[in-house]
Amino acid sequence: MFEVIKQDNGARQGKLRTEHGIASTPFFMPVATRAVGRYMTSDDLKLMRPEAIIANAFVLYLNPGTELIRKAGGIHKFMNFDKVIFNDCGGFQMLKESFLEGTTNKGIKFRSPFDGAPHLLTPEKAMQAEMDIKADVVMALDDVPPFGSTKEQIVDSIKRTHDWHKRSKGAHTDKKQLLFGICQGGTYPELRKESTEYMVSLDFDGYSIGGLCLGEPKQKMLEMVGIATSILPRDKPRYLMGVGSPEDIVEAVAHGVDVFDSIYPTQNARHDTMFTSKGKIKIDTAKYKEDFTTLDDNCDCFVCRDYTKAYLRYLAKIDDPMGKRLKSYHNSYFMQRFMENIRMHIKEGTFDGYRKEIRELYKR
Ligand SMILES: [Zn+2]
Repeated sequence: MFEVIKQDNGARQGKLRTEHGIASTPFFMPVATRAVGRYMTSDDLKLMRPEAIIANAFVLYLNPGTELIRKAGGIHKFMNFDKVIFNDCGGFQMLKESFLEGTTNKGIKFRSPFDGAPHLLTPEKAMQAEMDIKADVVMALDDVPPFGSTKEQIVDSIKRTHDWHKRSKGAHTDKKQLLFGICQGGTYPELRKESTEYMVSLDFDGYSIGGLCLGEPKQKMLEMVGIATSILPRDKPRYLMGVGSPEDIVEAVAHGVDVFDSIYPTQNARHDTMFTSKGKIKIDTAKYKEDFTTLDDNCDCFVCRDYTKAYLRYLAKIDDPMGKRLKSYHNSYFMQRFMENIRMHIKEGTFDGYRKEIRELYKR
């Protein structure tokens, strides 16, 4: 199911086998939370040749509902994307407090933001939804403590997450679908260790490192990643949830992380920060007003082939949705080629040099 092919110090290059093909690691997943990318169609997503994309089972469970997706023949057919799809499950942190009615050991009680209907999401229901949606790789339901939680709150939340994961394992009967466990623990080293060790004892197909990148300092985040990867088994994939800047990805890859996802590249694109092979640029600034060159000479995406900086700046200035599409596409495409470079450098044993180069280009 997962195999490490080449190791370059801590960094690994491997293969993840799923129902919808093999994904080469390390990879970065464009986000399609509601079974659609933001300003990007499924055809756009295919065109950038990602190893995998990620949707959110919890959000899809609420709308359009898992029954409709099941009738469509699963998420791949529903959204017309035939490559690897991951599904996260713990989307409830996206619910505003006004919708959340409380978390108990049983599950999460809330009102749907779409129609106000009351719901109780249990780990068993979440697993059933994941199986109906039919993504290739799914996450067990976890209890995500918000950033700034006290140690006591995190201890409490870990206990609940561990219990829910044990129940999820029992409820997950689709053997073709890979099930990942999510290691929590906030930024407390002993809790990170405890949660990671517990997840390993349940023997999942892969492991997610969750509850990070929520506002803690970068060094703290990497320290927690280091604790997790030192415990996780070598022959299982490791997924650092929510990390998506080039400079953070190279550091996490150096710690042995294989899988990433984040809205960071598209969010930046919508706010006019473009990722290029020479670092970041702000496309809406005056200096590009009459710049009729391409965004990135080293990028072969259709945006860089067909449009100029002056045109992209103009679209940014008039805040046109097509400008958002072009910018989102380029940044997402850039991320895919960036991950290809990472894989190539690991294979060639030159990853550390590349990591330093990226750190230099993308330092803040
Ligand atoms: Zn481009």
